[in-house]
Amino acid sequence: MTTGPGSQSSLREANATRVLEAVRKYGQLTQVELAAATGLSQASVSNIVKRLVKAEILQAQNTIRSGRRAQSVSLAIHSGLIAGIQIGRRGLSVALADSALEVKERISLRLPVDHRPDTTLDRAAILVAELLDRIGAKPDDLLSVGVAISAPIDPQTGTIAVAGILPGWDGVCVAEVLTRRLNRPVIVDNDANASLLAESQLGGLRGVPNAMYLRASYSTGAAIKIGGELYRGARGTAGEIGHVQIEPTGLICTCGGRGCLNTVVGAEALVDLLRLSRGDLSLSDMIALALNNDPGCRPVITDAATQVGGVLADFAIMFEPSKIVVGGELATTGDMFLDPIRAVLASRPLLGDSVEVERATLGSSEDLMGALILAHREAHDVVTAEKTSVPHSKTASEVA
Ligand SMILES: [Zn+2]
Repeated sequence: MTTGPGSQSSLREANATRVLEAVRKYGQLTQVELAAATGLSQASVSNIVKRLVKAEILQAQNTIRSGRRAQSVSLAIHSGLIAGIQIGRRGLSVALADSALEVKERISLRLPVDHRPDTTLDRAAILVAELLDRIGAKPDDLLSVGVAISAPIDPQTGTIAVAGILPGWDGVCVAEVLTRRLNRPVIVDNDANASLLAESQLGGLRGVPNAMYLRASYSTGAAIKIGGELYRGARGTAGEIGHVQIEPTGLICTCGGRGCLNTVVGAEALVDLLRLSRGDLSLSDMIALALNNDPGCRPVITDAATQVGGVLADFAIMFEPSKIVVGGELATTGDMFLDPIRAVLASRPLLGDSVEVERATLGSSEDLMGALILAHREAHDVVTAEKTSVPHSKTASEVA
């Protein structure tokens, strides 16, 4: 072992980086968990945490783990606010939170289905300003902004990776436009990825290294976590299960493909099945009726779940997650939607009961929480870079 001062100090920095990266990856850890996650001794972890807390890079707070008092460690941002923005096909939500991710204010708006980027991003920027105003904060108090959007984002260009998925938004770099409007760093990701991030840090995927998040809503999307890291693929479209072909001679999809899962289980396809007998229903009407045991709406939902389960089972055989959490409107029907998925997975000999399927634990706001977490990490990167020589690496995959 070399003992020169240079090598000792670089070893110390490398160990500090390992601790910092583990906290970035898992969100909040006790020192015992940090030792396990980094492979360092508890004494080393304790020294590093002390140093990083003193440098105001990490913060320590008291918590309870397994019924015992413990001290947990998380990223520190001491003052300032972060904003999360969720942009869907039919709505826009904005939240403001403090550095502990406690939401201070939030607002949601419905949008026309064909909403356009200029007006929607203007509205988002105005809502951020309005929420800051509501809590008596100044624009300067805002550190950074995270955005979760209903389309795959190409990590190289920051634009939507597949033309047509969010009509009118092709070629728009949301981060660039909002950075100009808000004069703050903005980080943008797909809403399923953001939800997986939120579930990984605060919800049911905490400590689960191989997992999937499924959003079953107006359309279907998913995010994949492998070895604790979000897997995006080469262009950011990994996990777009709504565009897996299940009917080769089926309807043409928004992506230009044919018979994609979305053309069969998307909201429009589902309510179409009920039009003759139930008239024009919205997705939430259909869900409300199904929860009321409507004999038409129930099988539409359970059959959709069986179709989704078939595609999920193929995914699960390919990369073997131990858990899938399901969010989105259809998940609000609970076991009505989850049981058929469980049944399809269990029917595959390679899977059996190895994959747990649960409802997302953060309710309907996991994508907005994911946007806040993206903003929180961005803000922390800026603060860390200003404060210290401890290096931090930010890669596209380092979010889960
Ligand atoms: Zn498609």
